[in-house]
Amino acid sequence: MLRIGATGWVEKDIPACGPLDAICKPIALAPCTSDVHTVWAGAIGDRKDMILGHEAVGEVVEVGSLVRDFKPGDKVLITAITPDWNSLEAQGGYAMHSGGMLSGWKFSNFKDGVFAEYFHVNDADGNLAHLPEGMDIAAAAMLADMVPTGFHGAELADIQFGDNVAVIGIGPVGLMAVAATAIRGAAEIYAVGSRKNCCDLALEYGATEIINYRNGGIVEQIMEKTHGKGVDKVIVAGGDNDTFAEAMEILKPGGIIGNVNYLGEGDFVGVPRSQWGCGMGHKQLRGGLMPGGRLRAEKLAGLVMSGRIHPEKMITHRFTGLDKVEEALMLMKDKPRDLIKPLVIVD
Ligand code: NDP
Ligand code: ZN
Repeated sequence: MLRIGATGWVEKDIPACGPLDAICKPIALAPCTSDVHTVWAGAIGDRKDMILGHEAVGEVVEVGSLVRDFKPGDKVLITAITPDWNSLEAQGGYAMHSGGMLSGWKFSNFKDGVFAEYFHVNDADGNLAHLPEGMDIAAAAMLADMVPTGFHGAELADIQFGDNVAVIGIGPVGLMAVAATAIRGAAEIYAVGSRKNCCDLALEYGATEIINYRNGGIVEQIMEKTHGKGVDKVIVAGGDNDTFAEAMEILKPGGIIGNVNYLGEGDFVGVPRSQWGCGMGHKQLRGGLMPGGRLRAEKLAGLVMSGRIHPEKMITHRFTGLDKVEEALMLMKDKPRDLIKPLVIVD
């Protein structure tokens, strides 16, 4: 990114490697809706000549003197969020906020991202995971952000077996939330979206009903399906500040909304007073940045290897060569209706 609203290529030195760090080169890259927000909505504030990207599979080219488990030549999964694992926030269970709120998000935020010939990974032993032998590279790329974020939506909403759940938004993040919700044993899963291939994949990943928000209100449609009762949990992975009004309205008392959607505009989100039980409805609203880190990456990789999830099916557009990253990013910006997620194979 050259500045807000403009992308292009910049020439930079290879980053320096600290004692706990690694330098990697990309094997596969994927642009994210968050990259689009960063450039075209200025969502994280002003940035100049910053390398974009936080979704990569890579090869280690250099490690610091204190790195124990990785060496040059290792092929690795890299989590999009790369916390400082020795921070107090990490000890408190919120590593993604190490160093301040949202500060575990370092790539293409506080430092250069992964759309580069070489990139820097802090805390390599904590933020890299070995690429499992035989793993599909597209699935591996989705383990950087889409899988952990979607799954975090299900964690935030505390999905329990037998729950009836609405997943609002079924782009790649919401699709992974559907998969996570199914794995956690939900009964009914109402997937809210409109793009046909997203709807088809949501059904394949475990959704029981598709709610097309363009064909009528979400509230009316879900209340009708649930005979006026509403749902136990809502995961929000799309929509805007007003989506919380709909989520509150369809949520049963005692229910939880788990939000992973990035809210880039406005000063307030709309929580409707009476639908929130005038403050007494025991309806929780939780929102979170995905946690990141090696343990989680290894566990989610286990779900891929055992065939329990198939994130590679979300890849609708493939490119070859680092120079194609810009084209892939533009696709993410324009969101043609047949797009779910693009992938760039670098070598
Ligand atoms: P997409 O744009 O691909 O998907 C958005 C989904 O929301 C689509 O299904 C879209 O439907 C649906 N939608 C749009 N408007 C509405 C509406 N008014 N009501 C209901 N549904 C609506 O996004 P991604 O899946 O790539 O990302 C989702 C969000 O997650 C983004 O905000 C992204 O920045 C954020 N994110 C958060 C992370 C975290 O750590 N918390 C990490 C990564 C991403 P349609 O089918 O019509 O397109
Ligand atoms: Zn992302």
